[in-house]
Amino acid sequence: MKLSFSEEDERFRAEVADWLAAHLTGEFARLRFRGGPGDEHSFPQERKRWEQQLAKGGWTGVGWPQQYGGRGCSIEQQVIFFEEYARAGAPGRVGHIGEGLAGPTLMAFGTPEQQSRYLPGILAGSELWCQGYSEPGAGSDLANVKTRARFDTALNKWVINGQKVWTSLAHEADYCFVIARTDPDSVGHRGLGFFLLAMDQPGIEVRPIRQITGTSEFNEVFFDDAHCDAGDIVGAPGDGWKVAMGLLGFERGVSTLGQQMQFQNELDEVVRIAKDNGRARDPVIRQRIAKAHAELKIMRYNSLRMLSGQNDSDGNLQREALIYKLFWSSWHRDLGELAIDVCGQQGQLLEAAPYELTRLQSLFLFVRSDTLYGGSNQIQRNIIAERGLGMPREPRLC
Ligand SMILES: Cc1cc2nc3c(=O)[nH]c(=O)nc-3n(C[C@H](O)[C@H](O)[C@H](O)COP(=O)(O)OP(=O)(O)OC[C@H]3O[C@@H](n4cnc5c(N)ncnc54)[C@H](O)[C@@H]3O)c2cc1C
Repeated sequence: MKLSFSEEDERFRAEVADWLAAHLTGEFARLRFRGGPGDEHSFPQERKRWEQQLAKGGWTGVGWPQQYGGRGCSIEQQVIFFEEYARAGAPGRVGHIGEGLAGPTLMAFGTPEQQSRYLPGILAGSELWCQGYSEPGAGSDLANVKTRARFDTALNKWVINGQKVWTSLAHEADYCFVIARTDPDSVGHRGLGFFLLAMDQPGIEVRPIRQITGTSEFNEVFFDDAHCDAGDIVGAPGDGWKVAMGLLGFERGVSTLGQQMQFQNELDEVVRIAKDNGRARDPVIRQRIAKAHAELKIMRYNSLRMLSGQNDSDGNLQREALIYKLFWSSWHRDLGELAIDVCGQQGQLLEAAPYELTRLQSLFLFVRSDTLYGGSNQIQRNIIAERGLGMPREPRLC
């Protein structure tokens, strides 16, 4: 197992750190440590401008192949980039759904026309995307989507009707990729299509969902004769499941590895408060802090183990990656509980108007969702059992 990065990688680390230090200044200085999970409603306009600043520096699409305008970094360098990004406290990325999901999916499954139409806007940080997968009856059981797409030959367009839910950042997005049923008589994963829709059109209504944090980062999205061009289906009608699953592979991929540095920032804050308010002298709290510290180290060594292993021909991480989502989401949920316990009674109070949650209160409330999105903990256990350990598949009704 490789426990360190090469000299070239360390030079790359210094380059990233220097660029961030030089550019997280001026109007961007106040974005430090803002806009992450639970705080995505903050500074949307400034964070859009920050995306464009990153793009100018060549720091969008760091893992994209150079032929698509990306930086073509190795997996190690991508991890370094995400680590330094978090270490510097650079803001939560409003462009992450386009860069991490839509872009790689278009590179893998899109036509040259789709690639040249959509990839440059993602790279430039000027066109933001959202993900139209989940519906009221289709979350873990995604194949149950009911949203429909029919081809209107007179209009020469696809016409979409239905509803999505939990659509993160739909209110900020310019485009949405949508799974919809192209064959109205089909069930399950057959008969689906994968569509690219502009959000700014009369047939789309976005309704924010107010969360327990008091903020609205995700939405309900209603399609009422929404449309997209004939060429805005990725793959053929009926190929939607293959494309949708390819995209989820990117969601569980390398971009999540560097987040450990953000976790370290959060744990450091918990430790600082515990020292300040005396909770660090409580033996049970000390034990829990030590456990969190040790498990964060385990996460890091497991990442290095994955990076040391042979990737498959598409550059995807191997079997060890299957445990990663379950491990980090459970760790983060426990950190939220530790944080609020360390704050003690202070953690139950909002100090003064406008009564905004502190970072750790917000963390405590938000981290439960980590165990849901991108595949719930239960679903992750199914994946580990079936794909990692080769155990029998869970019984299905259809
Ligand atoms: C913060 C956040 C952001 C999100 N952003 C988006 C987004 O941008 N776009 C989008 O499309 N979706 C988004 N989602 C939705 C997310 O993908 C779903 O919440 C997730 O797929 C779970 O679906 P569900 O909420 O319908 O729960 P359900 O699927 O109804 O699950 C309910 C419970 O049953 C359990 N369960 C379900 N099936 C099984 C099974 N087979 N075996 C064992 N247990 C099972 C689950 O683990 C869960 O505990 C987001 C969710 C969150 C929390």
